[in-house]
Amino acid sequence: MTETPPGTAERVVVVGGGHAGTTLAGLLRQGGYRGELVLLGSETDLPYQRPPLSKKFDGDGPVQWLRPAEFYREQDITVRLGEQVTVVDRAARRVRTASGGTYAYDVLVLATGAVPRGLTLPGADTRGVITLRTLSDARVLRGYLADRGRLVIVGGGYIGLEVAAAARANGVEVTVVEREGRVLARVASTRFSQALTRHHRARGTDIVTGARVVGLTSRHGHVDGVELADHGRLECDAVLVGVGAVPQDGLARAAGLECDEGIVVDGRARTGDPSVLAIGDATRRPVAGVPGSLRLESIPSATEQARQACSVILGTATPAAEVPWFWSDQFGLKLKIAGVVREPGDSGAQVTRGTAVRGDPSSERFALFHHEDRIVTAVESANAPADFAAGRKFIASRRRVDPARLADPGTPLSEAVMN
Ligand SMILES: Cc1cc2nc3c(=O)[nH]c(=O)nc-3n(C[C@H](O)[C@H](O)[C@H](O)COP(=O)(O)OP(=O)(O)OC[C@H]3O[C@@H](n4cnc5c(N)ncnc54)[C@H](O)[C@@H]3O)c2cc1C
Repeated sequence: MTETPPGTAERVVVVGGGHAGTTLAGLLRQGGYRGELVLLGSETDLPYQRPPLSKKFDGDGPVQWLRPAEFYREQDITVRLGEQVTVVDRAARRVRTASGGTYAYDVLVLATGAVPRGLTLPGADTRGVITLRTLSDARVLRGYLADRGRLVIVGGGYIGLEVAAAARANGVEVTVVEREGRVLARVASTRFSQALTRHHRARGTDIVTGARVVGLTSRHGHVDGVELADHGRLECDAVLVGVGAVPQDGLARAAGLECDEGIVVDGRARTGDPSVLAIGDATRRPVAGVPGSLRLESIPSATEQARQACSVILGTATPAAEVPWFWSDQFGLKLKIAGVVREPGDSGAQVTRGTAVRGDPSSERFALFHHEDRIVTAVESANAPADFAAGRKFIASRRRVDPARLADPGTPLSEAVMN
């Protein structure tokens, strides 16, 4: 297959009108791309922000458009909503949609995102059992929360905890059920998990860990309980299932592109086909300083990959690699996390791991600096933007630090770097 030389594409087709795809479309026009630009999205709403869906249940609700409708017209971006791409024909360089449309491309960008993992349990498809990914999911959830009933959240990940916080603030009774021994077990350090657990419990959220859901019960076709293996039955009016997301890599897989729980891309969003790029939650990607490849599900990662794809399409310089990071809001806690958290017992090279705790994790302001051989590899922070910013710089610079100074709030962080 002949490659379109960088900077010469005349038809770019983006599949997926989420954060990654929409950001890329804007960047391409901003970077001077004048060719045809088509954004195909299976949702019927204009592209919107997902973070507010789990955080904002008051006021105007969760709708925040990524761009106003006129933006797409002014920028000559053809947006086709409600268009599900069903086939990628790489040999002919065109995609087909469920409605029968075909779109030819010089460069195709797959930005198909992820979908919530469901529960495969008796009663999992009962009314009142919901997941949260789209605006319409959020509208359904909002309806339940308005009734101030009892909500069980299956899964103590970031989305589950954010909804728990918002629901409690709305007077809803909330129980979080987590299979692992602690919340955020996959993504956060034990100390951070413990601190957040304390904050949630202090605000009345019940958190049950080490609990396996074995079934959901219903009354008149609506969920009314969650049965746990060893912890009895929890009565409820709604269940939110927040047990992770599955990358939407089916299109890519069917088109013969390499996938491994996510479309495999390099550090510039390129797949094995020079005419096909992939960005966002659908991908598995390398991360500087971390062995192997990772699936990152965050706005900063989607934005970074959109920049990478833009540079490939326009033939401009590759943007510098970023330290991965994301944020979460729970109650009054603005949480910011950067790097990849590894626990002292995790496998890996022979390194000495430790954590410098700056501030009191039972208060509302603190930062945890995780280090390996005195090099900071991750920072987890609550209401501590300056500590977070310094932590990101430490991670990027890989300079050695003095953990005792990091842990001393009286010592400026700039003095923690060892010469
Ligand atoms: C409730 C919630 C809260 C979040 N909060 C945060 C946060 O606080 N901070 C943070 O950093 N990240 C957060 N995230 C994660 C963040 O929203 C995602 O990382 C980001 O949206 C990924 O963008 P994306 O474009 O890759 O995928 P998506 O936003 O999922 O967009 C993919 C789009 O592609 C469409 N699509 C899929 N297949 C096809 C097809 N075949 N044809 C056409 N269209 C298709 C989908 O319908 C979807 O609209 C949150 C996510 C959720 C769900």
